[in-house]
Amino acid sequence: MLTLITNADIHAPESRGRGQVLLAGERIQAVAEEIDIRGAEVEVLDAEGQMLLPGFVDVLTHPCGGGGEGGFGNRTGEISAAQFIRAGVTTPVGALGTDSIGRSLEVLYGNVMGLRDQGLAACMYTGAYRVPVPTLTGDIARDLVLIEPVIGVGELAISDHRSAQPTIEELRRVAADTRLGGTLKGTGGTVLVHVGDGESRLAPLRDALARSDLPVHSFYPTHVNRSQALMAEAVDYAKQGGYADITVSTTPELVAAGDIPGLQALLDMQAGGAPADRLTLSSDAGGSLPVYVDGELQGLTAAEPGALLEVLQQAMHEVPTAVTAVISALTCNPAAALGLADRGRIGPGRRADLMLLDPESGRPRKVFCGGRALLSE
Ligand code: ZN
Repeated sequence: MLTLITNADIHAPESRGRGQVLLAGERIQAVAEEIDIRGAEVEVLDAEGQMLLPGFVDVLTHPCGGGGEGGFGNRTGEISAAQFIRAGVTTPVGALGTDSIGRSLEVLYGNVMGLRDQGLAACMYTGAYRVPVPTLTGDIARDLVLIEPVIGVGELAISDHRSAQPTIEELRRVAADTRLGGTLKGTGGTVLVHVGDGESRLAPLRDALARSDLPVHSFYPTHVNRSQALMAEAVDYAKQGGYADITVSTTPELVAAGDIPGLQALLDMQAGGAPADRLTLSSDAGGSLPVYVDGELQGLTAAEPGALLEVLQQAMHEVPTAVTAVISALTCNPAAALGLADRGRIGPGRRADLMLLDPESGRPRKVFCGGRALLSE
């Protein structure tokens, strides 16, 4: 089945102007100003006035919920396929977090496979905050090689009072096992690292990489916009070839405490010299966010995938020159960081994971994943 999208304003993510994109089954067959389809049976979709973007790759989500700190009553709920689809996320990557006891990798696997059943190209990490890393098969590399949706380890915690305080040797071994698994699988092989507000910041990663044969992108730190000091270290990390992930879900209270909001963090890190292709944005969907009323903690709410779309909408309204950098940080950069070579760009041979975005409302009108229309408004 062929679908021809015409008259779209193509952001591949670089702006290609008006053009046509031909979808064949689950892949993109061609991208050009005009595609010759004579003789072929094609469904034509006129996308006049709409932006065409790759579907978002959200490298940190908690589809089976998160939280649980402070007791079972503080657990957050599941994130549905509809929430991801409405936000334009076609590849949510699921993780456990602090709690790998009340929740398990088996439960996460079930959620991720459920998202796949509903059309999304969902993936997952094995492991959680802790070391030794919890796994499904008893071994990190075996999980990657034998369990198809597993593409890495995450989110392993450092510089946080809730982390297992991993030693440098433990970090090295986890990265090496993950890299071996990714090498054998032919995709993935990265350790997504939750960086807390501890004083050591990225030092454990630098120490683990020093005098090892591991490439710098073996570790992929997230939440780097937690403070100015951590962000400065993440700029250096990106300059050395690593990827750094900015969490876009925040609250006014967290900003008051030092969090840098997503768009500002991206712009500041680029201004600081971080290469634009090394920066990514993720939602931490399902992660718990504290709610305060008059300075009193009232409970928890959960981060949502829609926060990614809000950053893009903000850039479109306030900093149009940053739109390509934002789209890249939501698509091709995270795909490259995780070794998912088949997605994150609009180009021949890539997965047909796409969205048509209304530039006025900043909302997706259509979302395709693997060529299948998941949203049609
Ligand atoms: Zn985290």
